[in-house]
Amino acid sequence: MTTFARAAFLASAGQSAEFPPEGAPEIAFLGRSNVGKSSAINALTGRRRLAFASKTPGRTQTVNFYDLGEAGRLVDFPGYGYARVPQSERAKWERLVSSYLLERNTLAGLVVVMDARHPVTPQDERLLDWLAPRPMRCLALLTKADKLSRAERAPALAHTRRAVADVLLFSSVSREGVIEARRRLVQWLLEARPGSRK
Ligand code: GDP
Repeated sequence: MTTFARAAFLASAGQSAEFPPEGAPEIAFLGRSNVGKSSAINALTGRRRLAFASKTPGRTQTVNFYDLGEAGRLVDFPGYGYARVPQSERAKWERLVSSYLLERNTLAGLVVVMDARHPVTPQDERLLDWLAPRPMRCLALLTKADKLSRAERAPALAHTRRAVADVLLFSSVSREGVIEARRRLVQWLLEARPGSRK
């Protein structure tokens, strides 16, 4: 069985105090609401309904941790960017994300999920600007790549590469990029294993 096929729900946290104790290396997924983040996690793990986002804007959402056995964990953050979310919820999301990214010792890397048709929105840019001075492994997944024409592919990649060095076109429908993304993330988990050199 591949690393990702082992995925099983581990824990849900509405605030940092509820994060499960640190254990295996973790890969965090962040992205705007509706960008295809849940579908990407489901495609990577080969599950149809492992991750499912609440479609209710403004509803308190949780960080979901998925266990990949000893190899690692996937950590799915609530989507950002809903215009109708009240400021208090937005501030809560920022606290949750920043406390995780700054303090989690077992963080192996971060996947920023963006829509291939309009990557690096102002909200994505805010996140990427915050990340820029903080060295960590980062992969941009450009989802819904099946909706791009051939002519749109290279510009989408080039535009995103200005903000994130490592970019993959991805589709949970055509499954483009699934094998390559798995390969990258498994490599991160191996490199982040306790005892392995950074
Ligand atoms: P999330 O809010 O980021 O978790 O987004 P979801 O994974 O729930 O997807 C939002 C919508 O986009 C759903 O209607 C999905 O069916 C659709 N979607 C997600 N990924 C893809 C993709 O790769 N291609 C296409 N065409 N649609 C997708």
